[in-house]
Order: sequence, then structure tokens, then C-alpha cells
Amino acid sequence: MNKTMLKKYARLIVRVGANVQRGSRVVVYADVERADLAAEVVRDAYRCGASHVAVEWSHDEITRMHYTHRMTDVMTEIPRWEKEKMKDMAERLPCRIYIESSDPDLLRGISQEKIRAVRAVRVKTFKPYRDQMDNRHAWTIAAAPSKAWAKKIFPDLTPGNAVEKLWDAILKSVHVSADTDPVKEWEKINDAFKAKCDWLNKNAFTAMEYTSSNGTNFSVELIPGVLWMGGGEAFLNGHFFNPNLPTEEIFTSPKAGAASGTLVSTKPLSYSGQLIENFSITFAQGKAVSWTAEQGKEMLDQLLGMDEGAKMLGELALVPKTSPINQSGILFYNTLFDENASCHVALGSGFTNLYPGFEHLTRAELTERGINDSLIHVDFMIGADDLTVTGIRADGTRVKVFEHGDWAESMLAEL
Ligand code: ZN
Repeated sequence: MNKTMLKKYARLIVRVGANVQRGSRVVVYADVERADLAAEVVRDAYRCGASHVAVEWSHDEITRMHYTHRMTDVMTEIPRWEKEKMKDMAERLPCRIYIESSDPDLLRGISQEKIRAVRAVRVKTFKPYRDQMDNRHAWTIAAAPSKAWAKKIFPDLTPGNAVEKLWDAILKSVHVSADTDPVKEWEKINDAFKAKCDWLNKNAFTAMEYTSSNGTNFSVELIPGVLWMGGGEAFLNGHFFNPNLPTEEIFTSPKAGAASGTLVSTKPLSYSGQLIENFSITFAQGKAVSWTAEQGKEMLDQLLGMDEGAKMLGELALVPKTSPINQSGILFYNTLFDENASCHVALGSGFTNLYPGFEHLTRAELTERGINDSLIHVDFMIGADDLTVTGIRADGTRVKVFEHGDWAESMLAEL
């Protein structure tokens, strides 16, 4: 990756992703293997006037060593300094920039029980801080290749070539190219997202129906007034940022406990270093009641068994099959990309900020109103090539939203 492109990408992450402002405090999370990009991000954050930029380094091989050699009771003991650090963050609310590059197989072969235990303790311990920070600090997740990740995607290439090829795919997916200014490009992209969101919100659908020939036949109710959102988002104070780079989805949180029918997966789900493949989940009275998987059934059992909310949905997302990520034909083994290849739903926690007036309500009140709560939020893809999605208005009128896996022409004509 040449330096000019690296700088362009860093600018996109800092200015469009987190939208770092004069006086912002920033924390960058990166693997040492991508110190080159991390350094450019730090440089650009200071250029934007950040008052303090910190970097939290990770190293895949060392992370794996911890999992291999530490006993579960040691792994699940969270040191006091780590909690203090989270507490400090919840008070200072820095912009958080995640540079994702980890090997999807990082924890392959490590005891599932250990992984589950560590995950459960960490999620539980940090949830109060996360809830406190939710909707109050800007954050963004972007990706960069590591050798291991690139080799997983392109096993036949040399590590160097695989990394270059993954760089190309990543930069293409976030619309960074040699001859355009990505910051300007993203202004246009965010405008296009806004037009579609406005259309969905204006229609005020009370339910959505999904059908495709692979066996998906599903309906779910929506909570009146809850928004559809996509692209960038803004806080109440007006700070606009793009939490995911890339992003192709427009999403909402459906009403927890109001889904029925079957959803059939159309892409493998990579979770905790394991693949769950060719699976389907059937819902009744809003909850997953039965499921099958050709591969990774045990992992799916574990996921759905995490807590009460894990069996309900927290997200519905619309992504056209013409999405550049889908067109690339690459399976990235990473949700940031794979979720933007196709329509999906998420098991678990919903998005509280989609509920109008959320800032005056507690998490419990929002849960009561139908925004699902859970320790997990896990996306899986259901976007078949012949997927039809129909919106149903309060008066019973049916409006085509998606046909043949893409935005319906009648819908696009109204934008
Ligand atoms: Zn999503």
C-alpha cells in the first residue's frame, strides 16, 4: 500500500468515520502489524486539533498465547485497572477508532468453554460503562489487512500478495481511490442514505415481510416511530460521524417478541473464530424456537442460549445485492464487510438511539417499549438473490421495499 493511499484512508477514518474535532480526545485500537495505518490516523487526528490521542495496541499471536496458557479462572478475572480505565472512558467520552485486522481463525482450537466464559465475564463487567457511553461518544470501525486475515481470504496467494489484494478490496469498499477525495465522496454517499431513510421513515411501516425461494418466510412488527437509519449518524449535539467504514446498510430495530416464521441464512456466520454454515432459525411469538445448522450447530446453540434477549431480534438491515462488497464476490470472514454484502438481521440487542426521545428513557424503559436487550448482537445474512421485502402500513397497505434482492424500482422512483 503506498503512502498516499494510506494517508487518504487515514483521513477518511478520522474525518468521516469519527469526525474528530478541535479539542477531541481520541483512542485508537490497532494491531501492531498495522502500525503504519495507526500512525497516519494519529497524525491526522492531531492535525484535526485532537487534544489527546492514545493508542491501544494488540498483537494477535500474543492474544492467542494468553488464551492458550492462562487458566479460565485467571482469564475471567478482570483487573481493577481495566475497570478504572473503562470508567475513565465513560466519563471523558473520547472518540474511539477501531482498526480491525484480526485473523478470523485467531482462537481456532481454543476451548469453546474458555472463550465463552471470558466473553461472558467481559461483556457483563463492561456493559454498565458501555450503556453509559452509548449515544454519547463518536466511534468508528474500519479495517486493514493482516497477513493471517489476508491468507484466510486468499489462501493461494503469497502473504505479501494476499495483503495487497485485501488492501485493494478494503479501499474499494470504502470508496477510496487514487483520483478522488474520499471525504467529498462520503458526503454524496451520506446524502443517498438519507434519501432512502427519509422514504422509509415517511412510510411509517408497522410490519415487514420477507420471502425468498430458499425457504425464508418471515414477518416482524416494527415499533411505531422507531427510525430507520443508515450511513452517518448524529448525536443530539449535532456531532455527525460514520460508525462503520464500509457501510451499505439501512437498518432499524424491530419490536422484540413480535417475529414469526423462518429465516434462512445465505452466508456463513463467522463467530468467535468459528463458522456457522447453512443454518435457519424459526421464530414463534417473537422468539427463536427451533434452528438447524449444517455446520457449527453447537456454536449456534450457545449463541441463542446466551440470555433471554439472544433469542429475539435487535436489528433488521436492508442491503442491496448490488452492494460493491457483494459484487466483489469475496467472503471476508468479518462482519464489518460481510454484513454489508446482504440483507441481514441481528440476534440480540437493539439500537436504543433509534427510539425517538430515547435520551429521556432508561434502558429498562426502552426494553419495555420493544427495543431488545441482550449481551449479544450478532448479525446473520438472509439476503437471497430473489428476496422480496414488503412493508405494511398501519392501514394495511402493502408497499414493496425490496424485490429480487435489491431496492424495488417503485421505491427508487419515489426518492
Ligand atoms: Zn447491521
